[in-house]
Amino acid sequence: MEMTTVGVIGAGTMGAGIALVCSRRGYQVLLLDANQAVLDKANAYFTSTLERDVAKGKITEAQKEETQKRITPVSAMERLGDCDVVIEAVPERLDLKKSIFTSLAQLCRSDALLLSNTSSISITEIAGGLPHPERILGFHFFNPAPVMPLVEVIRGMKSGEDEVQRAYRFAEALGKVPVLVTDTPGFIVNRIARPYYNEALRILGDGVADVAKIDRIMKRAGCFKMGPFELQDMIGIDINFATTESVYSDFFQEGRFKPSRIQQRMVQAGSLGRKTGEGFYDYNK
Ligand code: NAD
Repeated sequence: MEMTTVGVIGAGTMGAGIALVCSRRGYQVLLLDANQAVLDKANAYFTSTLERDVAKGKITEAQKEETQKRITPVSAMERLGDCDVVIEAVPERLDLKKSIFTSLAQLCRSDALLLSNTSSISITEIAGGLPHPERILGFHFFNPAPVMPLVEVIRGMKSGEDEVQRAYRFAEALGKVPVLVTDTPGFIVNRIARPYYNEALRILGDGVADVAKIDRIMKRAGCFKMGPFELQDMIGIDINFATTESVYSDFFQEGRFKPSRIQQRMVQAGSLGRKTGEGFYDYNK
């Protein structure tokens, strides 16, 4: 089956990047967000990114126009009814994702792939009780989606074998490196990443070193591209905290995954990182 039209739900940090990845590969994209300001911001991001590509000689002016024209912003879920694939990228909350997949399961064709970009939530639980659960899978991009090659393709308990193969090939068609993962808390990468963030937060809480010093050590001597606090600011502290909470809960409160109070307070204060202009660092300056 040829897939040509992709719906992306959520035009935030991940959804905007995912929409651009799909459009660059020739797919028609319907990009849905509940917030018009986010759709406007996503459009400005497409323009500036593609203008940079033109300036670097990677694409022509005409290709820039075509790539941008393939992305249509929409504000009603009903518009996604004819999509061959839908990728959900709304905040990391089970209730929200469940309600979106409940609507999609009614709206979309039974052969459409319904994919979640969740970082940690059980695909089995998202799909539980919905019609045709075989078409529901995890499809986890990494941030920034246009740059990072890896996509975790997550097989829920009721995901179909044919659908898993189709999702795998779709990731390849997007120019990504897919890896098949079973439905376990945090999958592979976020399970490994939880202790990395948590331990950095504990070091900060214990007063061993401050944010800048921890980041500096991990980059200069540890050869990481970004320090753990810069990374949290880029990801979104709310999304990072929700992921840790979800992994902790799904591992039946195993102590090694216990969320950090520092992170919780930052979320409560609305200091979410780059997207709010302030997190562990100040981006307003
Ligand atoms: P975000 O907060 O930047 O964006 C989420 C968007 O969803 C917002 O623009 C919001 O307006 C929109 N939204 C909320 N409810 C909606 C609804 N009912 N219908 C349509 N739009 C709605 O979040 P994000 O960082 O892009 O994360 C999205 C998902 O991707 C999460 O599941 C997260 O765990 C996962 N993820 C995030 C990262 C990261 O680094 N941020 C990396 C990989 C995966």
